[in-house]
Amino acid sequence: MTHQNRGSLPSPLELEWNTPMYRLAVDQLDATAERMGLDPNVWERLRTPQRAHVVSFPFRRDDYDTVETVFGYRVQHLLTMGPTKGGIRYDLDVNLGEVTALAIWMTWKCAIMAIPFGGAKGGVRIDPKTLSQGERQRITRRYTSEIVEVIGPDRDIPAPDLGTNALTMAWIMDTYSQHKGHAVPGVVTGKPIEIGGSYGRAEATGRGVVSCAVEACKLAGFTFEGSKVVVQGYGEVGATVAKLAHSLGARVVAVSDVKGGLHAEKGLDIAGVNEWMHEHGTLTGYPHADAVTNEELLELPCDVLVPAAIQNQITARNAGRLRCRLLVEGANGPTDLEADAVLADRGILVIPDILANAGGVTVSYFEWLQGLSQFFWTEEEVNTKLITLMQRAFREVLQVSQSKGVPMRTAALMRGIERVKEAKRVRGVFP
Ligand code: NAD
Repeated sequence: MTHQNRGSLPSPLELEWNTPMYRLAVDQLDATAERMGLDPNVWERLRTPQRAHVVSFPFRRDDYDTVETVFGYRVQHLLTMGPTKGGIRYDLDVNLGEVTALAIWMTWKCAIMAIPFGGAKGGVRIDPKTLSQGERQRITRRYTSEIVEVIGPDRDIPAPDLGTNALTMAWIMDTYSQHKGHAVPGVVTGKPIEIGGSYGRAEATGRGVVSCAVEACKLAGFTFEGSKVVVQGYGEVGATVAKLAHSLGARVVAVSDVKGGLHAEKGLDIAGVNEWMHEHGTLTGYPHADAVTNEELLELPCDVLVPAAIQNQITARNAGRLRCRLLVEGANGPTDLEADAVLADRGILVIPDILANAGGVTVSYFEWLQGLSQFFWTEEEVNTKLITLMQRAFREVLQVSQSKGVPMRTAALMRGIERVKEAKRVRGVFP
């Protein structure tokens, strides 16, 4: 099989599956597999998920009389390595193709970090910002009931993602436990400390992104300390990146949320921004910075640009106008293939999502381990082990990149695909 003559998708998949994000994940796989000379039997298996669950269910609005139908998904890409693992997102754009692409990326992420999980992802197509806490809780509990047979501590373990958080995980854990008749904290990670969560989980993805940024700066010949940083997205990942970057002596000159961004060339006072965010629930209106749009923010001159919001932000449309030296991907799928080529031509080093944002799944793995052994680590132990694994993964991917003369994204994909291929080879085909 070659990149050019690969089979088209089976027709039922054309509907919801064949979306831009799914095509991006498969195109990345195809281009890398071709370059690696990957066994076509393995290659074909990796293009589609092993299991994909689509559910629809009702939820009652707070007015009691209104009942709406919503759609939910849980996709398990690869069951070869161990249980599957991946976040759950609440967003209006969630669809089967998006969730499948994210599940595929989770597979590579776990393999790059040498964590014994396959990739999964889930989501519900709702806008969480328009829902009350009670409505979000009812949706979460009903969604969990719909997928209760496919998740579990040794089956498939959800975690937070876009639009969900530790509280969402607590509701999932509680609902799953009610179904099973006993407490099952290991069914989710990213849960609150009180029910077996891990110290350092909430900040883990951002911490991993920053550790990659530090390594990438060394590679590019300057220090992260004193560098100029721009962050898109101010949620669990973006706000942590801004906070840690600031604490390491970088100058965070711009940040944004869905409504727009803030820019201050002398550097933002991150504690002040956080206080404003806490009080107002948005960055908009913060008085000590200029307002910028999300588009303008991405094109600001800086050393390190961290997209940490949503997918498809850097494309052929704006890749030529980026003025960063390094692009470190906090979000999943922020850069498309055409943009990758433009950035490579322009000499902008890209640290890909499947490496840069793997800190979250790494500490999720730590949380799962701590739960299994019922022995809990200190925050310092968690952070130290996380940095050790992130630096190891960075070195290994860099080694592939340098020895094969390929960009870091291709090298990361090669590393992930190679590990999965070897596991598939030794397990063989059943029956
Ligand atoms: P979050 O919901 O906590 O925050 C998302 C942020 O992005 C918010 O500030 C939101 O206002 C902003 N945003 C949303 N839509 C936007 C838009 N159209 N333009 C600009 N900003 C927008 O989510 P998160 O957990 O921080 O996740 C952010 C990204 O990181 C996602 O791509 C997610 O898949 C990825 N990621 C998260 C984790 C994790 O552990 N949370 C792990 C790996 C990858």
